[in-house]
Amino acid sequence: MKIEENVPLRRLTTVGIGGSARHFARPGTVAELQEALVWAGEQGVDIFTIGLGSNLLIADDGVEALVLRLEDELAEARAEDGLLVAGGGATNAVCLHRARAAGLGGFEFACAIPGTVGGGVQMNAGAYGGDWKAILERALVVSAGGSEWSTPAELGLDYRRSGLRPGEVVARAEFRLEPRPPEEIKATVAELQAQRKAAQPTNKRTFGSVFKNPDHELSAGRMLEACGLKGHQIGGAQISPRHANFIENAGEGRAADAIALMAEARRRALEEFGVELEREVRFVGALELPAAGQTM
Ligand SMILES: Cc1cc2nc3c(=O)[nH]c(=O)nc-3n(C[C@H](O)[C@H](O)[C@H](O)COP(=O)(O)OP(=O)(O)OC[C@H]3O[C@@H](n4cnc5c(N)ncnc54)[C@H](O)[C@@H]3O)c2cc1C
Repeated sequence: MKIEENVPLRRLTTVGIGGSARHFARPGTVAELQEALVWAGEQGVDIFTIGLGSNLLIADDGVEALVLRLEDELAEARAEDGLLVAGGGATNAVCLHRARAAGLGGFEFACAIPGTVGGGVQMNAGAYGGDWKAILERALVVSAGGSEWSTPAELGLDYRRSGLRPGEVVARAEFRLEPRPPEEIKATVAELQAQRKAAQPTNKRTFGSVFKNPDHELSAGRMLEACGLKGHQIGGAQISPRHANFIENAGEGRAADAIALMAEARRRALEEFGVELEREVRFVGALELPAAGQTM
């Protein structure tokens, strides 16, 4: 298993922000993945798995870890006996394509989620009333100590979270889908994608929703919109003029700019609604948000 050094991560994220990985590997099989995890254990190096980087903010000065990106066999998907069987690194787009070709429905909700199978398990990704928890049969979780198949309950899937620990990598997953004619799947996907395009900045560099929706009548986006934050810019990062729960890289954006915007958004939501917004985006490297109510 080849371990590369100082690999830039910016282009491996949808927002296009961040420094380099100190160590980087692209395992293509479970055996290679295990080898990389053992290597990290021996070196005393932290592990971070990157999917499509669609929910990540990576520190400007990079990350002191072994960053893993699952490729080859671990990024393939196929339909088998009513199941969609996929590698942890398979993209949602490939999975949806395979499911549709096999006449299997239930994965359509993921058409607007630009991630991978493993990222979806980690985040219990969901949209339009569907989520990973509802369709996942089981996932193969690999760590330095071995591998084990786990159910959604054992994985602790809940709203935009799981109980996966650092160093645990989803290598494969099986989804239980239902027979559905491919043309119906195609029509649903077209409809959901049109809805998404009308509401969110689909052609901008973002990391998806910044904050989880709070337990409040207003969503995080509506709340930040009511705070007058649409279009607010700090450095090269801007709160989307289209949807206030998205931060766009407006050109040369830095992680520090995005953090400053998030801190300002949290301060305003607390001041005006008494709500402490919790971030959905995952931080990679030495990044920290100031306490709610405080700015940078
Ligand atoms: C335009 C846009 C729209 C979005 N819309 C939605 C939406 O509607 N609903 C939604 O839920 N999300 C949405 N997201 C967020 C994001 O796409 C999802 O959270 C997605 O599931 C993340 O997958 P990923 O492969 O990109 O993971 P990454 O962003 O690369 O990583 C996210 C987390 O998953 C972990 N991870 C990745 N792969 C593995 C693996 N194999 N094993 C273990 N852990 C792993 C990472 O370590 C990290 O903790 C959106 C993002 C964008 C940019």
